[in-house]
Amino acid sequence: MTEKFTAAIVEKFGPELVIGELELPKPGPHQALVKLLASGICHTDLHAAEGDWPVKPEPPFVPGHEGVGEVVALGEGEHDVKVGDIVGNVWLWSACGRCEHCRTGWETLCNQAEYGGYTVDGSFGQYMLVDTRYCARIPEGANPVEVAPILCAGVTVYKGLKMTDTRPGQFVVVSGVGGLGHIAVQYAVAMGMRVIAVDISEDKLELARKHGAEYVINGRETDPGPAVEAYTKGGSHGVLVTAVHPNAFRQAIDMARKGGTIVFNGLPPGDFPAPIFDIVFKALTIRGSLVGTRQDLEEALDFYARGMIKPTVTECKLDDVNSVFEDMRHGRIDGRMSIRF
Ligand code: NAD
Ligand code: ZN
Ligand code: ZN
Repeated sequence: MTEKFTAAIVEKFGPELVIGELELPKPGPHQALVKLLASGICHTDLHAAEGDWPVKPEPPFVPGHEGVGEVVALGEGEHDVKVGDIVGNVWLWSACGRCEHCRTGWETLCNQAEYGGYTVDGSFGQYMLVDTRYCARIPEGANPVEVAPILCAGVTVYKGLKMTDTRPGQFVVVSGVGGLGHIAVQYAVAMGMRVIAVDISEDKLELARKHGAEYVINGRETDPGPAVEAYTKGGSHGVLVTAVHPNAFRQAIDMARKGGTIVFNGLPPGDFPAPIFDIVFKALTIRGSLVGTRQDLEEALDFYARGMIKPTVTECKLDDVNSVFEDMRHGRIDGRMSIRF
């Protein structure tokens, strides 16, 4: 008889995941079987379940790439984790390690990469597999439910902020104060940046203030471009967009200072009209940024371990995943929802 475990499964693209049973997988070479303690719920999981992006996962699959759990079995070969260690799965589940991107410190761009909860089953279940060469090592004593969001939201914005090239004392706008954005505010403060937060909900702006934003803008009521221009006397040096609406991407160009750098983290489906004149005359740099490397992840986790950042987390159960997705669609979540198993 094969052993079974419970998971939330995308059987077809659409609003409802099915809570069902799957066969317990056996870890292959370089793999570990992990018993989940917690998993964050990222907006990417919702995009995955709805088949939002041009490159789609293949149902049936289990989403989730902010999973924290205990290693219970190891596959063949050498591993630098052992049974009993607390590890995590991440979006960059594995990469080839040999291509140009991998060799030059851009493993996140590897064409052979596997993505946790997308091309490989993820953390919305009692068990998951990780590749022990790429999994996260969770700092000792971390609260699993609280540290989980660092594994995607945290590392993504930590890397994204670095990619804005903003220096201590300069302004950075965090546009979108959801799961990613509320942690971005904290990293930016910890890095010595002056933080301006933009969202379309007052609750999110309140959270941004609590985490250290010095100026907040409700994009539903105030046009963020002129407001940032006036507050910063010329625009923000860096802009990090984590929002889930294309309007925010357009507004980033208005909020940036001359010579500034805009980084896109958010991934709403669609596009936005980009004003060529403004981009040229302000000599803007606009870049995309995708999660982070293993090194970025280690650094991002270290900020947490040293108490420099603390995700705002609400606990839920695996069975709640559909209602969490419903709240996420309507922007009703404060910080991150995190499943406790
Ligand atoms: P979330 O749902 O927790 O937060 C989204 C936030 O955007 C909410 O606070 C919402 O109020 C806000 N928002 C919506 N419209 C807005 C607007 N017009 N202006 C300003 N704010 C607006 O989502 P999340 O988990 O933080 O993820 C955000 C996005 O980042 C998703 O598209 C997700 O797929 C993407 N993501 C990208 C990466 C990456 O590596 N680039 C990694 C993780 C997530
Ligand atoms: Zn994510
Ligand atoms: Zn590679």
